[in-house]
Amino acid sequence: MHVVDLITKKRDGHELTQQEIHELIQQYTQGKIPDYQMSAFLMATYFKKMNDQEATYLALAMRDSGDVIDLSQIPGIKVDKHSTGGVGDKVTLVLGPLLASLGAKFAKMSGRGLGHTGGTIDKLESIPGYQVERPVDQFIKQVNDIGIAIVGQSGDVAPADKKLYALRDVTATVDVIPLIASSIMSKKLASGADAIVLDVKVGHGAFMKTEEEAIQLAELMVSIGRLAGKKMTAILTGMDEPLGHKIGNGLEVYEAIETLKGHGPQDLVDVTVEIGAHLLLDAKIENDINHAKKRLHEALKNGQAYQKFVELVQAQGGDTKVLEHPEKLLSKKTVPVIADQHGYITDINALDIGKAAMRLGAGREKKEDHVLFDVGLDLHKKIGDHINKGDLLATLYVSDRGIEEAIQLTKHAMVIGQEKRSIPLIRKTIK
Ligand code: URA
Repeated sequence: MHVVDLITKKRDGHELTQQEIHELIQQYTQGKIPDYQMSAFLMATYFKKMNDQEATYLALAMRDSGDVIDLSQIPGIKVDKHSTGGVGDKVTLVLGPLLASLGAKFAKMSGRGLGHTGGTIDKLESIPGYQVERPVDQFIKQVNDIGIAIVGQSGDVAPADKKLYALRDVTATVDVIPLIASSIMSKKLASGADAIVLDVKVGHGAFMKTEEEAIQLAELMVSIGRLAGKKMTAILTGMDEPLGHKIGNGLEVYEAIETLKGHGPQDLVDVTVEIGAHLLLDAKIENDINHAKKRLHEALKNGQAYQKFVELVQAQGGDTKVLEHPEKLLSKKTVPVIADQHGYITDINALDIGKAAMRLGAGREKKEDHVLFDVGLDLHKKIGDHINKGDLLATLYVSDRGIEEAIQLTKHAMVIGQEKRSIPLIRKTIK
């Protein structure tokens, strides 16, 4: 294989074969192809794109560049979900225990947050003692014992994607749908689950700003997963405002606990139940979507889902006493953000809210940054709510970082207008 021939082929808009893509990725991972040639290939792909088949081959080649988790020691259908990243997105914290409480097997490896979006692992680590690192055999045993484990990524999952993503980041080739889809799916396919629901976020707080782009990405990821033998569903959900009210690590655990006890915010409950219902069907626990939804709502109301969360935290070494007093997860130092006019909330820019949380220390600007667990925002209003001048819009939980900037970002994000507005949350399901 001559790399220059592959660059030429892509540059001229031709389709690459599985063998060509496989060798390209293998040799690049082994350091046999220099970054300047890979950059040229990525730029050619940026302009000429890839078809579904090529994107699938790319995802498979990147999956095979590292460890593929073998969950065959867990009997039955293993379920997983993935979100393309949003602000206040604590769905995994609720969905995992909820599904496990109904008999599903939820074996999840999650990531840390970077930039304006948080990561499930950082959120769970805000529970004192919670161990995110588990050897694979213990991870599997825990799922067999209690139906759920949520750990950090162990081993070397899709190293080719890590290397390529870093190169895309500095060569202006991140926002190419086939490259995004194969990057996300390479990691999902390595995670060992049989059925996957993708929560594809759309809106100004999301990676995909328009519905059209989000549909393209969702369809391609579903197609890649299916060609690789997985049961796939993608659900497009709005990220025009943060999900729920609370943003920040401990704050999101707090809200997840409220939700698991049946007192969650409507949008968080709706997204969780929508994803959960598809996974219950895929896991063959239910065969009717409406009945599946009913059971999910019941398990949130009757304490069953919360009990499973307590079991999860206990199994991973976390302090379960704090779950009964989740206010202990929050900073004692708070700052109010007050409305300076009356009207309706017409917009809550999720990107700005995510940045505000990051400036307070809840997120990382760079990979090496340490996050603070007890800081973040509690938004008291959502889009469509009426407010009077002087009302409390949000409470910031702070330490000593970025307070003034966070206040300004929050005020800027929460737009007040004179017309009541509502926006759809669950936009489309792609099977
Ligand atoms: N997330 C990923 O994992 N990969 C991309 O390319 C973009 C977002």
